[in-house]
Amino acid sequence: MWIKNIVILILTACFMEFVAWFTHKYVMHGFLWFLHKDHHDKTSKGFFEDNDFFFLLFAIPGISLIYLGKNNPLEDIRLWIGLGITLYGFLYFSVHDIFIHQRFKWLRNTNIKYFKAIRKAHKVHHKHLTKEDGECFGMLVVPKKYFNEQKK
Ligand SMILES: [Zn+2]
Ligand SMILES: [Zn+2]
Ligand SMILES: [Zn+2]
Repeated sequence: MWIKNIVILILTACFMEFVAWFTHKYVMHGFLWFLHKDHHDKTSKGFFEDNDFFFLLFAIPGISLIYLGKNNPLEDIRLWIGLGITLYGFLYFSVHDIFIHQRFKWLRNTNIKYFKAIRKAHKVHHKHLTKEDGECFGMLVVPKKYFNEQKK
């Protein structure tokens, strides 16, 4: 049972990278651009951005599924799907908001190639200031070329 649940958790987190990529490319740079715009042009004042709305959007299904499945933790896969969504949310926040954008001054330096490649790819995404053109919409899956160009 544990193995199955852990596999569901990991598959859900992986699937969320796809969902995040898709949402970023087609929704945030699409009809909800007005909420994502301030993450690109940095017009927000203070700690929060309009863009943080998307955390709520993903937190709600994650927390709801955990709540629905919590009474039968070994049998109810809703709990594990909810945990996978929430785990991905934590990873995304740690990498995107803390490591890359330094909303908290943590994790500033790294010699790990993978992390440097993720940061480079996302900086390339931010070079585009408009809704229409863009690249590197994913987060934890990084195009190989950014990985290869990192020196040890
Ligand atoms: Zn964007
Ligand atoms: Zn960003
Ligand atoms: Zn963009």
